[in-house]
Amino acid sequence: MVDPCTEPYRNPSVVVVGAGIAGLSAAVKLSQKCKVVVLEAQNQIGGRISSFQSGNRTYDLGASWFHDIDNNQLYSDIQESILSSGRKPWSLEIDHTDENYEMNVIADDGSVSTVQDVSEKLKCAENILETIGDDASEFDMSLEEYAHTYLHPDVGIALRAYESYVGLLWSQMSAVETPPTLLDHGTDAFQFGGNELVIDFLKSKLNSANTELILNAPVTSISNSESGVTVSSAAGQFFCKHVIVTAPLAVLQKAKPSLFASPIPEPLENAITNATIAVLAKVVLEFPKRFWRKGLGRVCCIYKNTSVMFSCIYDTQNENEHSVNKTLLAFVPGPLGASIERDHASAWPELKQFIKPLVDSEVGIVDPHQVHVSSWSKNEYIRGAYSSLSKGQNMRDLVLPMMQGAWDDKLLFAGEHCTIQGIGCMDGAYVSGISAAEKVLND
Ligand SMILES: Cc1cc2nc3c(=O)[nH]c(=O)nc-3n(C[C@H](O)[C@H](O)[C@H](O)COP(=O)(O)OP(=O)(O)OC[C@H]3O[C@@H](n4cnc5c(N)ncnc54)[C@H](O)[C@@H]3O)c2cc1C
Repeated sequence: MVDPCTEPYRNPSVVVVGAGIAGLSAAVKLSQKCKVVVLEAQNQIGGRISSFQSGNRTYDLGASWFHDIDNNQLYSDIQESILSSGRKPWSLEIDHTDENYEMNVIADDGSVSTVQDVSEKLKCAENILETIGDDASEFDMSLEEYAHTYLHPDVGIALRAYESYVGLLWSQMSAVETPPTLLDHGTDAFQFGGNELVIDFLKSKLNSANTELILNAPVTSISNSESGVTVSSAAGQFFCKHVIVTAPLAVLQKAKPSLFASPIPEPLENAITNATIAVLAKVVLEFPKRFWRKGLGRVCCIYKNTSVMFSCIYDTQNENEHSVNKTLLAFVPGPLGASIERDHASAWPELKQFIKPLVDSEVGIVDPHQVHVSSWSKNEYIRGAYSSLSKGQNMRDLVLPMMQGAWDDKLLFAGEHCTIQGIGCMDGAYVSGISAAEKVLND
């Protein structure tokens, strides 16, 4: 590792703040043409990608799915790179579990009612929502208010399926802005090999002669002057022509008063201040034996105004009579998700209350022997799952100021929150990093 106190790294052309997908994709593009310093606050790269090994399996507590693979640049760039290098293909599989979507409502007395034809009901609710078009003001309401006002209760309930994708409860979600980002979301591929492979892919594309990647270097202040930008971090001060900030929106929200030492435009200030940050706890539950019914895909269970989505994705892979899969993924949005992330020991006792509809009655519930819980909302350099839009907010006011940046393009932003297509996703983060780098290179 180069000593960061030596030249030329004190005066790179560009400083990139954060080494998640957006920061690394920006650095890959820039490092082909100029000197780049990447400052990462944590002791590892990857940001919201976190894979781990348990037994002979790899699991992810962050992203696992490549969404809409026919329109996913990250997915196609990786596939192309693997094909052209003749390397072994990744263990990516098309996810068909969505076709088996099941929804259950658990009453206070423990009785379960199943919502029939969820996909059809969702389509119906979405079709009505689509007709709203751009006239957002008239429908500036939460998804729950929308369901109660315009839909039959039997149909409206299906909209709760969004909660475990968005990380907000339907009482908070924007009825106008949220569904379009999820409509027709195409075919998804699941990464059984662990998504840290994405980070390895990006790292392998960095031009190391032009890149200095410094860990444990949280950036504390960024200031503008006529001659350039000064970036102060735990690894010292850097003077550069451009800075690309990829720290998550929730981190910017908290750090904003001290982070930007020179004024930033009001729309940008407002976008950061008003952003909604979703919380989505991801829990990997490993059991000594399988106790859920065969043939399940995704099962949303609603209890006491919270929903949890269980995914039986591992049942789709290599199952035969001799190897029964015994792992469930659970997705817990909103306040319960935050509480589980704060107190990991509470995860199974809480989830146990939601799991009844999955159970094969001949087996009964079995306790897990391993429970792995994400910690995104309590990580001070992440502070949540991803950016989202709550009632009354719109994509334009949130995303456009971030994409525009400030200080005559000397201050640029990238990340899952800086893109309209792929907002909240790996692909959005990837493309936004490339766009910010192109802006620098074209300057
Ligand atoms: C539970 C969960 C499930 C998800 N599932 C999927 C999925 O299946 N498919 C999908 O496409 N997406 C999914 N996502 C979203 C996806 O993980 C993110 O959109 C993407 O990884 C974000 O990349 P990024 O580069 O924008 O941000 P990050 O990965 O968060 O990178 C930002 C980096 O900035 C660093 N940083 C923060 N503050 C500072 C500072 N002051 N100085 C220096 N560095 C700093 C952070 O440490 C971090 O490494 C999921 C996310 C979560 C939380």
